Amino acid sequence: MHQVSGVIFTGEEFIEGTIHFKDGIIHEVSNGITKDSKDTKTEVPMARGIILPPMVNAHTHIGDSVVKLNGRGTLDELVAPPNGLKHRVLRETPEEDIISAMTRTVQDFQAQGIGWFYDFREQGLAGIRQIEKATAGATTRPIILGRPSDTGYDQEEMDALMMRSAGVGLSSISDWPQTPTRKNVLKHSRKRKVSEDSRKGEVQDNSRIENAQANAINEVASHARTSGKMVALHASEQHREDILQIMNLEPDLIVHMVHATPEDMRICADRSVPVAICPRTNTFFGTIPDIAEMRKAGITLLLGTDNVMINGTSLWEEMRFLNGLAPSTGLSPVDIVKMVFSNPYKALSPGYGMPRFKGRFGSFYHGARADFIVVSRKTTDPALTLVSGISRADLTFNSLGYDGEETNNRRNSK
Ligand SMILES: [Zn+2]
Repeated sequence: MHQVSGVIFTGEEFIEGTIHFKDGIIHEVSNGITKDSKDTKTEVPMARGIILPPMVNAHTHIGDSVVKLNGRGTLDELVAPPNGLKHRVLRETPEEDIISAMTRTVQDFQAQGIGWFYDFREQGLAGIRQIEKATAGATTRPIILGRPSDTGYDQEEMDALMMRSAGVGLSSISDWPQTPTRKNVLKHSRKRKVSEDSRKGEVQDNSRIENAQANAINEVASHARTSGKMVALHASEQHREDILQIMNLEPDLIVHMVHATPEDMRICADRSVPVAICPRTNTFFGTIPDIAEMRKAGITLLLGTDNVMINGTSLWEEMRFLNGLAPSTGLSPVDIVKMVFSNPYKALSPGYGMPRFKGRFGSFYHGARADFIVVSRKTTDPALTLVSGISRADLTFNSLGYDGEETNNRRNSK
């Protein structure tokens, strides 16, 4: 039997305890810290410190890991399709190089203790195949949120996407064309079994065109939901978007909300839709959401590192950065710790081997997987330690295997 001892994060607070485990399964969690003993029969803990469930990175685009930033730029210049730097580089780069850069990102996620990441995968089915290859064999698991290859609804494509993903991760409602593609209109018309002639007429009919356009994104979202999958999308990142139109999609997760009004936030909180914020990305592009207002509205907050090409891979750095904004956000260190170590599990919980929180020690109880990381304490306040800048060297135990002690205790799928 092995043990780790220290302060355990329960999802709400830190309490002293010792986890006893064997073969990747927790056998017991006892109160109090194991003291050093001269008695050789008493096992010495493998690690001491702050014991946490694996981290959850709630918003990523690891597909651009290969892209090197060679200067600053606007959102449009750097990441917007089709001609932002990201898309130009990805078009010109051999697929094997794109995939191996993605693999390096995932290894880095593992090494820092990230157990799951919600990746917004672009390029339809081809994009999903890339992340499947990049994460094969990794103990850090992607929650793949795919999207159609263009902004239209295609039932067959959606069936194929939903077979191999956790749901959809859409760009934003504004990216869906103001004038629908002919493909949308035709698909919409076909559903209603109209003749070829009236279909041609319909393309000219503006009201029907708008209808078909509005329906395309709604149909994509509704297809995901009826497949039992997630609906996630970016919201109010570049400018304010209609929150009710967003809520009509019945999202499970929205990202950014930089330009959201207090009323938008209240609606979001009322409907229990969690928001993933990415403060370093927003700051890079010269904006920042009103996090104090989000907190006041009662929104469940999550944290994401967003584009690898802009922020690299460190979720610990994202936490440290967010903590630096505390004078204006009002977030306590524990609030920030929850955004990474418990809110995602509670607010999203789509399976994929994610721990459940129950009982005195949260996700740590008899029979649960021994999935945890241990961080050495630098201050007497564990939450403050965690938001003050943690590097890999501070991780004294990492069950995710990469650079860690145990490599065989992780799951692969739902
Ligand atoms: Zn994003």
